[in-house]
Amino acid sequence: MKGYMGKVLRVDLSTGGIWDEPLDESLARAFVGGSGLAARILYDMVDGETDPLGPDNPLILMTGPLVGTPMPSAGRLAVCALSPLTSIWGESNTGGFIGPELRFASYDGVIITGRAERPVWLSIVEGRAALHEAGDLWGLDAYETQERIRERLGEPKARVACIGPAGEHLVKMAAVMNDHGRAAGRTGMGAVMGAKNLKAIAARGSAQVPLADPEGFKAVVREITADLDEDMVALSIRLAGTAGYVDMALMYGDLPIRYYQRGEWEGASNLSGVLMVEQFQNRNTACYRCPIACGRETRAPRYGLEKVDGPEYETLGALGALTMVGDLEAVIYAGHLCNRYGLDTISTGVTLALACELFERGILTKAATGGLEIRYGDAAVLHHLIEMTARREGFGDLLAEGSAALAARFGVPELAVTVNRLEVPMHDPRAFVGLGATYALSPRGACHLQGDMYGVDTGQGPPVELGVVPGDRFESSEEKGRIAARQQAWRNLYNAMILCHFQNPGVERVLAALNAATGWGLETHDLMTLGKRIVTLKRLLNIRRGLTRADDRLPDLLLQPLSDGGTEGRVPEMGPLLAGAYAEYGWDPETGTPPGEV
Ligand code: SF4
Repeated sequence: MKGYMGKVLRVDLSTGGIWDEPLDESLARAFVGGSGLAARILYDMVDGETDPLGPDNPLILMTGPLVGTPMPSAGRLAVCALSPLTSIWGESNTGGFIGPELRFASYDGVIITGRAERPVWLSIVEGRAALHEAGDLWGLDAYETQERIRERLGEPKARVACIGPAGEHLVKMAAVMNDHGRAAGRTGMGAVMGAKNLKAIAARGSAQVPLADPEGFKAVVREITADLDEDMVALSIRLAGTAGYVDMALMYGDLPIRYYQRGEWEGASNLSGVLMVEQFQNRNTACYRCPIACGRETRAPRYGLEKVDGPEYETLGALGALTMVGDLEAVIYAGHLCNRYGLDTISTGVTLALACELFERGILTKAATGGLEIRYGDAAVLHHLIEMTARREGFGDLLAEGSAALAARFGVPELAVTVNRLEVPMHDPRAFVGLGATYALSPRGACHLQGDMYGVDTGQGPPVELGVVPGDRFESSEEKGRIAARQQAWRNLYNAMILCHFQNPGVERVLAALNAATGWGLETHDLMTLGKRIVTLKRLLNIRRGLTRADDRLPDLLLQPLSDGGTEGRVPEMGPLLAGAYAEYGWDPETGTPPGEV
């Protein structure tokens, strides 16, 4: 099999069993890799009753055919399982170096089932895997854990994915952390790992990914790298990180403010990426073989920190604009706390903002919070709440269940800004209405990495050859719904190969790279077929988990027009958007059900 190492590692933590399995070539051809292949594997391993925190929920780490090759920006890893936050399909995708290192250690992926009696960690070195006691590591934060595992392994260059205290405490929004502050953040994969008593996974190896056409691969990589200097989006991300989008997001009304209820706020300009570069940035950082280098190393001297990873745009939005903390250094520190404890910054920020909103409305009182006043803009309280959430201390135990559970607990489920229980990220569907269809149909709940319509309608390298054409961002039409579905399929293919969404060299070059890696001889139209097949499989899995057509919706607050800002008076009309998307996928327009088997 070209483009693959040809095997996956199986680990049963209940028995301590470890064995290799050949990668099923027909499944790889049909679902590619990453979260596509992981979904196909998981589909056969779970049913409607499987407990996401139980031993039967498999935790699947999966690479794809481009990972660990010379392809720029393909150093990624998908971490997948049923989500304890949403109870449906869960996937998260992380950068850094751990994905490539897993392949150098000779594996395409790892499938972990069962539950260890005591805390353990897993080493995978040069094709050999072993479990080790981790009792003394339990309780360490994500940074300390990575360091200690490397020391213990005697491999200073080993790459480590681990959980912090949030994962250990089964916080529903716990992340899996790797390469310092890189995170598989969304859908609570850290809690799945914690429920298995698995503290960390370390990988180290020197194998090479076999390519079908090494010379052809080199040629396309040369072209992509050379052209990157002309790519304005990549250049601006290199300059100011994803945080550089804050100013543009404000202009479009894409940055949610004050729990998605305001379109303008002068404090938001304090969160600008340019300001961050000028005042707090130490240097750029990059994932494996990525010339874009969107990562930031910053500092927060007021908190005694000389090195902090991030923050990204999503973190600035969720822990800044949404909670009205316009103090950049305080937001950097909040992001740092999430990294150390191993928390998804998006779900954490949204849940804390909901707590602020409930307190403002008098729904939440000091009697319920243990005496805390939870006010918008109070950075010190928010920092404290992050720690309480990660450790499930006091009121933090409620926050640890996420927004949907918090809103339901206080009798106001309509105030949860979630889709299928996953908190809405920092892109507002009122600003780019195609996102309404993207979020409503996203297989893991509200997610911008399942179709970035803000990128499409601002012309940031959309795959026009596949019918993803930029247009009016406020047009709620069936055609917009179709385009959103195509972009969702395209990004699901990205999440399978796996390629970073900031690397957009064009359909032809992506196709050339995939063919040179695998030798499959795919044609352009095959890319859409693959992407749609992957989305459809995840949908079938979610239907098995109980989702219906009625769950294809946006939260109420996002259907309320704002009185100011870049979206003033606009909301998505979900009827035509969804009708177009169902038609594009070939799903039943009444039930939203895909026909037959995938
Ligand atoms: S653009 Fe950023 S996230 Fe993407 S691969 Fe490069 S450094 Fe990693």
